Amino acid sequence: MDVLLNLDDWGWNETWSRAFEPHAAVGLEPGRVVAQHRGAWVVITQGGERPASPTGRFRHQAGPGELPAVGDWVGCVASQHSGEVRIDAIVPRQSVFRRRAAGTQLGSQLLAANVDTLFIATSLNGDLNPQRLERYVAMGRDARVEPVLLLTKTDLVPDGEETAARLAAELGIAAVALSAVTGEGIEAVEGWFRPGRTLALVGSSGVGKSTLLNRLAGQLLMLTREIREDDSRGRHTTTHRELFRLPGGALMVDTPGMRELGLWDADDGVEATFTDIAEIAAECRFADCRHDREPGCAVRAAIEDGRIDRRRLRSYQKLTAELAELPPPALRRERARQFSKMVRHVSEDTQARKTYRG
Ligand code: GDP
Ligand code: ZN
Repeated sequence: MDVLLNLDDWGWNETWSRAFEPHAAVGLEPGRVVAQHRGAWVVITQGGERPASPTGRFRHQAGPGELPAVGDWVGCVASQHSGEVRIDAIVPRQSVFRRRAAGTQLGSQLLAANVDTLFIATSLNGDLNPQRLERYVAMGRDARVEPVLLLTKTDLVPDGEETAARLAAELGIAAVALSAVTGEGIEAVEGWFRPGRTLALVGSSGVGKSTLLNRLAGQLLMLTREIREDDSRGRHTTTHRELFRLPGGALMVDTPGMRELGLWDADDGVEATFTDIAEIAAECRFADCRHDREPGCAVRAAIEDGRIDRRRLRSYQKLTAELAELPPPALRRERARQFSKMVRHVSEDTQARKTYRG
């Protein structure tokens, strides 16, 4: 007989337990979705990690975009024979990240459910882009997730804490200046990395997300050693997961969609912030018009007759140039893959150490 997993380790608590009552009443077992790809799901239940798929009944009732997402708590029926589970219900979500399906207004893609905290990482020594930060914050709020600003590389600037205080006030959220190199400010974020909390981390490539996670892993690992000894539970598995347990017990969402969230949003955001210019630019004779000296430029015409402000055009051009410098999608994916590997490495490392200790 297998040792039963404790679902508290995956974020289960009183609130979920209450929300699950109607499902328990009809004999369903709780489980949490830890991976989802191409119509196949992986769910953690008390019985362990299981391949899963929705029941026909559930599939029939679920609208498009209402199928289980990573982070969802679901009601399952264990199959007698196959070791698979069938998902028959989703517990109402506390939060959900969606992305509009590319190039269309219809439909949306679920990126992750039941995230508690969205860490927005940006480096203090780079160009702080307040509009972009505001968009991230709005995204967190839309998803009903608490956004927290992490201002990285504070060792490289003299006034990290002042900047953090200013941005916290401006954006109305918590902001922490920290350094993964010197360790400054790290304790201030540890409070969010509590057991059972579900976290997501976004931010442009190079701001220090991986370094920070490694640093936190080391730090939290030391804390963990003193307070935990449930080695029997954490069995090593090699399944591809998109919801990980970090040392210390916090859970980290790492789906491709979440990783690219920032970049997608930045693309969308420029258009949203400058809809008027984008609309007029669509009238330019050349699709790649830089609104400089090109013939048939609708934007310059609009500046002449005062429909577009010259200063706004300049910030539009600056932002689009910045976006053009982003690595191409293939490279972004590669970097995202490395990030993902690192997250996995951190959690496997913990498993290894646990095993060693046991
Ligand atoms: P990611 O792409 O967001 O995961 O960024 P990385 O973690 O790979 O970091 C990018 C670069 O910034 C690396 O060269 C790191 O060594 C460096 N870096 C990360 N955090 C810090 C920090 O707190 N201080 C300094 N000085 N450098 C950092
Ligand atoms: Zn033009």
